[in-house]
Amino acid sequence: MSDITDLSLADLRDALKAKKVSSLEATNAYLANIEKAKALNAFVTVTADRARDMAKASDAKLAKGEGGAIEGAPLGIKDLFCTEGVQTTAGSHILEGFIPPYESSVTANLWRDGAVMLGKLNMDEFAMGSSNETSYFGPVINPWRAKGGNAPLTPGGSSGGSSTSVAAHLCAAATATDTGGSIRQPASLTATVGVKPTYGRCSRWGIVAFASSLDQAGPIARDTRDAAIMLRSMAGHDPKDSTSVNRPVPDYEKSLGASVKGLRIGVPKEYRLDGMPAEIEKLWAQGIAWFRDAGCKIVDISLPLTKYALPVYYIVAPAEASSNLARYDGVRYGHRAKEFSDVQSMYANSRAEGFGKEVQRRIMIGTYVLSAGYYDAYYIKAQKVRKRILDEFNDAFKKVDLILTPSSPSAAFALGEKSDDPVQMYLNDVFTVTANLAGLPGASVPAGLDAKGLPLGLQLIAKPFDEETMFKGMFALEQAAGFRARPEAWWG
Ligand code: GLN
Repeated sequence: MSDITDLSLADLRDALKAKKVSSLEATNAYLANIEKAKALNAFVTVTADRARDMAKASDAKLAKGEGGAIEGAPLGIKDLFCTEGVQTTAGSHILEGFIPPYESSVTANLWRDGAVMLGKLNMDEFAMGSSNETSYFGPVINPWRAKGGNAPLTPGGSSGGSSTSVAAHLCAAATATDTGGSIRQPASLTATVGVKPTYGRCSRWGIVAFASSLDQAGPIARDTRDAAIMLRSMAGHDPKDSTSVNRPVPDYEKSLGASVKGLRIGVPKEYRLDGMPAEIEKLWAQGIAWFRDAGCKIVDISLPLTKYALPVYYIVAPAEASSNLARYDGVRYGHRAKEFSDVQSMYANSRAEGFGKEVQRRIMIGTYVLSAGYYDAYYIKAQKVRKRILDEFNDAFKKVDLILTPSSPSAAFALGEKSDDPVQMYLNDVFTVTANLAGLPGASVPAGLDAKGLPLGLQLIAKPFDEETMFKGMFALEQAAGFRARPEAWWG
């Protein structure tokens, strides 16, 4: 075995089952990679001892020919998933030191299937951001660098720890969450595969809430097959989340390799933005050509309300966040200010000290749009437009099976480049928020490199609970793109 950490999750799974490698070997190899990659700042917490204990338990099962679907596979967990007995920060100072007494349902599903936890991954504070720069624990660095340059680039956000650790082989795969693009945009910026399933596919129970009607967990993985394996283990009905849907979880891996001939691929003209880099346009056209060559029918579609998606998202998401984040008051858990004169100032000071600037901005926007006098004009109006956006997708899906768009309007950008201008930062989500507003599954697959040698992804959006067709399309795209590039390991 040359390097165990070069095995995909699928290959590692098979090698473990065939007893060609042990989980402890794989776990130690990943822990060594994590140790060497401190410069990437991908982990908030490394749980080395727990990882080795879990690996030994997996090896004992594998030795007896037992074990779950991903028995012994070492994973990274976004620090938004509560993990029993292990600090869970959501990237925020206000939760620093918070040790959940319970396990999120998604991570519990992964442990049920035999996965090993390497640690908790860095992320934008409360998942608010597109560059990982809002994290209290500092930005994550993208393993990719522009050709001939060494400026640190963003791995995207909010799941930047997940995208970086998968791209740099610090774990076999990672969990992530997506409220407006936080799985797909970081996947696009790091040449990884990111899948946001249908709203309700994965339980939200035990995931620190950002905007509950939009939040959805999913995997970031090295390729489509690995993402399929991860989603199968993560998904499932959970009575503890009333929005979790009671439908059987398919074996998504079975969809891979099926012919896409005759599939109708929709191309929405409204996703052709003014000022979009020519290379992204070109890649999108290339993606269309790949599907056409594979025997798909390309259908031009129109989603005229696309231009309202971002404004609607930036009303609905902050509104829900302002309500969800009201619980951080310094009383029950998390950071409490040392200086205060009465209970009111204790709340105020704890929140002012505990929350970063972007989170405070969202709370203010959310409180404003929900306040008497503005509620109808902003929040209710946004909800109405959201419903119309869903209707528009439903109409489009009468004519097509999948929708193909770019994943992100730019490749990885430099740290600091957009952090002073929130609107510039919000524009990162222009292609991804629509799927969250409509609750649809969406995925990003690496499709090419730009002139600077930085990765770009293409997005596929599918009908609700039709992840199987999405995986079929993703696999076809992956095969056609034949993307093999890897970042040079400058970090150690
Ligand atoms: N970038 C978007 C935001 O800041 C989306 C974040 C996410 O999906 N969690 O709200």
